[in-house]
Amino acid sequence: MTETVTIDSKPLTQPSFDNLGLAPALLKALTDSGYTTPTPIQAQAIPLALAGGDLMAGAQTGTGKTAAFSLPLLQKLLPLANHGASPAKHPVRALILTPTRELAIQVEESIKAYAKHTALRSLVVFGGVDIKTQTPHLKTGVEILVATPGRLLDHIEQKTLQLNQVQILVLDEADRMLDMGFMPDLKRILALLPKHRQNLMFSATFSNEIKKLADDFLTKPQLIEVARSNATNDNVTQKVYSVAQSDKEALLVQLLKNSDSQQVLIFTKTKLTASRLSRSLARVGIAADAIHGDKSQQERIKALDAFKSGAATVLVATDVAARGLDIDQLPMVINYEIPSAPEDYVHRIGRTGRAGALGVAISFVSPEEDKYLVEIEKLIKRQINKESIVIDRSSARTRSHTSRPTPASPQHDATASRRNVVKKKSSDPWFDQPYEAVLAKKPSPIKPIPSGKKLPVAALLGGLAYSK
Ligand code: AMP
Repeated sequence: MTETVTIDSKPLTQPSFDNLGLAPALLKALTDSGYTTPTPIQAQAIPLALAGGDLMAGAQTGTGKTAAFSLPLLQKLLPLANHGASPAKHPVRALILTPTRELAIQVEESIKAYAKHTALRSLVVFGGVDIKTQTPHLKTGVEILVATPGRLLDHIEQKTLQLNQVQILVLDEADRMLDMGFMPDLKRILALLPKHRQNLMFSATFSNEIKKLADDFLTKPQLIEVARSNATNDNVTQKVYSVAQSDKEALLVQLLKNSDSQQVLIFTKTKLTASRLSRSLARVGIAADAIHGDKSQQERIKALDAFKSGAATVLVATDVAARGLDIDQLPMVINYEIPSAPEDYVHRIGRTGRAGALGVAISFVSPEEDKYLVEIEKLIKRQINKESIVIDRSSARTRSHTSRPTPASPQHDATASRRNVVKKKSSDPWFDQPYEAVLAKKPSPIKPIPSGKKLPVAALLGGLAYSK
């Protein structure tokens, strides 16, 4: 039986962290992090989680869901915080499972920030790195463990970890865990946990499989939905350019060169396309720093850090690799290819418009991809604006300058693009105005790309064995 607490994204009264019953040490950390007001998911989830029952929360990416589960968890563990040197004084009391390493790292970074004025210890463990480097840290004892499922099981097998004192379990991005085939691992892990515990499950989308998971693992959960499930964030302006597959590259180069955006996340369907695209960008003077699926975890983290710090301006990513990325004020996401699974569209565009900032999500849709667009619009229950743009095909070339602009429009096809006969000026104000005009929070100044200057690009690719 599920009790539903459906909330409007606009709360009735101005919520405040002070009224949520959090300890001064946590409130101080929130002030340090620059948080002044709880987000809607935090305002709802924190009191419910503090009350002790199970929770199933539907929250889009970027809504502040990490703090929504971390703060009550820290509050509940505070009475057990201690400075004792013995590992026995620091058993794992809260376990947070995430589908990807990147998300695990981000979640643990947030927990460290929120717990910085307490004696509670946290650690993240994930696959792809030598397990021996994690074991000594585990052995010193940590109250809060963030893990990907496969690596957690490795530690359990090696007896470097005990889970018999876990009081709180968090399943973050549960929908993605199911998509990635973690169900058998989850079942094994859950069987090792004490029966009496609190479960908090977070998911961006509420599929039937997720509801089944909730039925199986949660006890009388309260259901919180911050926004309509499968809804896309209202802060994100979505638009579609109908464009022949063969013109996508030219359109992308044109957008990147005309845009003032400092950070653009580009999604492709396959790692092959991501690699090829970053090489193509390099050929037109945009330096491509590709990370292949067989490169190490360290290299992926390096690419992500470079993008987060602004050293790399463009990140080319596949869905799996990009899952859970949290980049402050990412202004633009481009779907170079739209996903065939409509839920992935929701996740992708959720990378922008986070924590109240505005963002733009542009999708390139070829005639062959129209069927996927139909499914996406069905899922998000709205039509996405279709726009036309003149493509300057010469911008994607280094040697040939013979092409002329062609229009990308619903009628446009590959044959028309090959003929290159139509030349018309863009009527799209997006290309005539600086990008900042649409941002709520003005980002740090965005430098135009001087001609000949290399624009750093990183490609973050999926296809890795994620946690083993
Ligand atoms: P999340 O949905 O947990 O990935 O959070 C998205 C972003 O929002 C992160 O950069 C958080 O640091 C930020 N954030 C979370 N809660 C708040 C808040 N109450 N006020 C301002 N920023 C927040």
